[in-house]
Amino acid sequence: MSQLLAGKTALVLGVANRWSLAYAIAQAFAREGAKLILTYQGDRQKLTVEEMAADLKAHRALPCDVTKDDDLAQLTNELKHDGTVLNSVVHSIAFGDLSRPLAETSRGSFAQALDISAYSLVAVAHQTAPFMAGGGSILTLTYLGATRVVENYNVMGVAKAALEASVRYLASDLGPSNIRVNAISAGAVKTVSARGVRDFSKMLEAAAHVAPLRRNTDPAEVADAAVFLASDLGRGVTGNILFVDAGMQIMGFARSEQC
Ligand code: NAP
Repeated sequence: MSQLLAGKTALVLGVANRWSLAYAIAQAFAREGAKLILTYQGDRQKLTVEEMAADLKAHRALPCDVTKDDDLAQLTNELKHDGTVLNSVVHSIAFGDLSRPLAETSRGSFAQALDISAYSLVAVAHQTAPFMAGGGSILTLTYLGATRVVENYNVMGVAKAALEASVRYLASDLGPSNIRVNAISAGAVKTVSARGVRDFSKMLEAAAHVAPLRRNTDPAEVADAAVFLASDLGRGVTGNILFVDAGMQIMGFARSEQC
């Protein structure tokens, strides 16, 4: 059977463990024949990510803390050294202190959440676009909390709003180079990052009752949508926020006994 990403090279940032959405995406990309380059934030993650890279038969695993310009420059040096031509970049990175309501968020926490979760997409796009000479796809991950108030999502909602606006502006800037920029708005999935949202398990339970498909989102569904966007099938799609959330985003008020 033909593979949708055969002959394509993908850089995937944000594989922390086997529960990461980036891991599901990397698995699906490997299944579809992509050559993978993974990144990890620092030495703490090096061994784990190298093990996963070996399982996925990835070409390389490289360090990259997106808050450090030197790390981003080093990453591009490595790509240059390898003579890499990239077709796809997956940015699956976020961090913020969600312990307080937005109204009580400090300047420092606000800046940190926006830097790691939104600006990093701009920085990554800037550094990697030159490696997409024939065009390509940049994909990030967002959440409904960007446009609706989701209890306990706090400053991350503001960061995701900035991320989604960045998707649109980057799509406009990079479109003339045939580089498409999109986001998948994933439904809630239990990952390490998600555990930072207070009462996340209750949120999952409620979503499974309320979402039109009456279930939670499977990371493999997010990954298959990522394959579509990275492949030639997605060639006409840019600046888009694609919801893969069992339909949760269309729901307004839900009967209280359902959740
Ligand atoms: P995850 O496995 O914890 O992934 C988050 C990743 O961000 C980790 O690999 C983490 O690396 C990385 N990261 C944080 N700070 C970084 C930095 N300074 N430099 C480089 N990497 C950094 O959780 P996930 O749920 O898969 O999250 C992936 C993306 O999906 C995030 O953008 C998240 O907001 C989004 N999303 C998640 C859900 C959900 O319900 N899980 C729903 C919608 C959207 P370390 O582990 O090394 O810190």
